[in-house]
Amino acid sequence: MAEKLELVAKGLKKLGLTGVYPREWRSSIVLEGEVDSWQGYIDAGYAAAGKGYKGVVNDLRVPGLEPLGEYLPPCQGGDLADKSYDVVIIGGGVIGCAVARELTRWDLRVALLEKEDDVAKQASSRNNGMIHPGLAAPSGSKKHSYNIRGNRMYTEAAKELGFELQRCGSTVMMEKSYYSLALPLVRYKALKKGVEGMDILSRREVVRREPNATDMQRGGVFLPSTGVVAPYKVTVAYAENAVENGADLHLNTVVLGFEMEHGGIVGIKTNRGLVRAGVVINAAGVWADKIAGFADDRFFSIHGRKGTIAIVDKAMGPTQTGVLALPRLGVNSHTKGGGLNPTVEGNLLLGPTAIEVFQREDWSTSAEEMEFLLSRHLHLNKRLKPRDIITYFAGVRACTFDEDFIIEPSEHVSNLVHAAGIQSPGLASAPAIAQDVGAMTVEILQKNREVKVNPAFNPLRRLTPQLAKLSFPERGEIIRKDPAYGKIVCRCEVISEGEIIDAIHSAVPATSVDAVKRRVRAGMGRCQGGFCTPALLEILARETGKKAVEVTKGRPGSNLLAGETKALGGGQDESS
Ligand SMILES: Cc1cc2nc3c(=O)[nH]c(=O)nc-3n(C[C@H](O)[C@H](O)[C@H](O)COP(=O)(O)OP(=O)(O)OC[C@H]3O[C@@H](n4cnc5c(N)ncnc54)[C@H](O)[C@@H]3O)c2cc1C
Repeated sequence: MAEKLELVAKGLKKLGLTGVYPREWRSSIVLEGEVDSWQGYIDAGYAAAGKGYKGVVNDLRVPGLEPLGEYLPPCQGGDLADKSYDVVIIGGGVIGCAVARELTRWDLRVALLEKEDDVAKQASSRNNGMIHPGLAAPSGSKKHSYNIRGNRMYTEAAKELGFELQRCGSTVMMEKSYYSLALPLVRYKALKKGVEGMDILSRREVVRREPNATDMQRGGVFLPSTGVVAPYKVTVAYAENAVENGADLHLNTVVLGFEMEHGGIVGIKTNRGLVRAGVVINAAGVWADKIAGFADDRFFSIHGRKGTIAIVDKAMGPTQTGVLALPRLGVNSHTKGGGLNPTVEGNLLLGPTAIEVFQREDWSTSAEEMEFLLSRHLHLNKRLKPRDIITYFAGVRACTFDEDFIIEPSEHVSNLVHAAGIQSPGLASAPAIAQDVGAMTVEILQKNREVKVNPAFNPLRRLTPQLAKLSFPERGEIIRKDPAYGKIVCRCEVISEGEIIDAIHSAVPATSVDAVKRRVRAGMGRCQGGFCTPALLEILARETGKKAVEVTKGRPGSNLLAGETKALGGGQDESS
């Protein structure tokens, strides 16, 4: 033990971080003291990683930096008090939703608690939607094995849940001819890692596959198992199928602490009362370390790494078939380097970037990030111009200092399972993570009781029409039955009123403008909702029985209208 501690101390000293005091706690390393910048905090964390500890707990203070903490829903009350479940999952991202659906295969009472007003509000809607092939993650890491398994499982998940998966493949291009010397090694690595179908392409073969690829390329590597999905639709699909199979979803519900007894969790404190559960699953994304701390099991720290992504207009979608990227050389070693990837809806995405951020829910974008994206990735497709970008967004990755997923039952709490540190490729890995977390949960429950399969489990999600994907005769047939499908509300994405109504009345109802977007993409086109938002607002008000002024963009309080014109004292200008 002393040897490992010595190694950490040496590493910190080398960085000149003299105000940092490392100590051992259980099998982890804890950093205490002070550093003068956020970069110092990050550097200290990495200096302590990889020294043989189970995890790095970074409790360093940075004077002048105050964490804002997590968003807390405004709702208060006791309507969930004394609710009792076999399993409670904390976090409605892709991991929590996939785990919830997995657990409904069993005859269990399952609940998912999510502090936001909808599922897929954090990292799970703020990403590239790539189903990575599994080449980038280091051999032997959980990231690697879950990525490989998850990638393969996506084909069946897409069929069962009815979301679109395009196996578009990816081309990692070489900028310098001498990179080709490394290709035999890359091929060997791919084979060893279980990455299927890798092909080495000459410069001409890259052009044949991607005629608009940069002229700077000198050949590359093609990975056919790479896919793309709409990540928010995947998350919603998992959540809907979980609810259809009997899971309870409680939105606007934040976990604030645990009641512990005899080394186990006996109660989950929420803003809506104390909930009881046989097993608790921690799938809380950037706040997973805080949840672990509630059970005195914080053996790791999460730090946020922001990624900004630019969206290219659909008009340019046909200029590229698969993902285009450059090798990671010279790029921050903790990312895959980003690139230019298609989406299932026909846009292209540029990015992401990778910046360590102090605030974990900081989704702001900046001019510097945008300029970086343009300079680094736009040229990969020579048809693209800066004016083709329609908007930007950002997400925050939940990183541990060991840079790997934590997917395991707690060593110290008898009924807690962690699915933490799920940064990229977490989306690609989700089906496999859910399968394992489900199995771990059932194993814990089986220590005290028999767990039977759910004979009524239906893996097939209930699907509703998607007009844009249908032929004209098929559309005609549907419109004849229900004319609401004939009224196009979002012209950019060709979304009808019927589809919006379906989303509002689905198993996980869309009750805000953004929630409708996440299900049917209304407002996600070139005009970014400029045209359809008022119509959307009216439909939401009518279908949910709310007044228009009560309709929100997203979180409670984000009402789109400030009030009725007369009530605000506006209306007709008397001077005119
Ligand atoms: C810019 C970017 C690009 C990426 N690109 C890809 C990609 O192309 N492919 C890929 O495989 N992966 C990608 N990823 C990673 C992927 O997005 C994540 O691995 C995945 O979404 C993690 O899902 P999650 O469910 O763990 O976390 P989240 O989606 O963040 O969900 C966690 C949820 O927990 C909730 N929560 C937190 N605390 C509480 C509490 N106390 N009570 C109740 N609820 C709580 C949060 O509100 C949140 O909704 C990318 C990530 C980023 C940021």
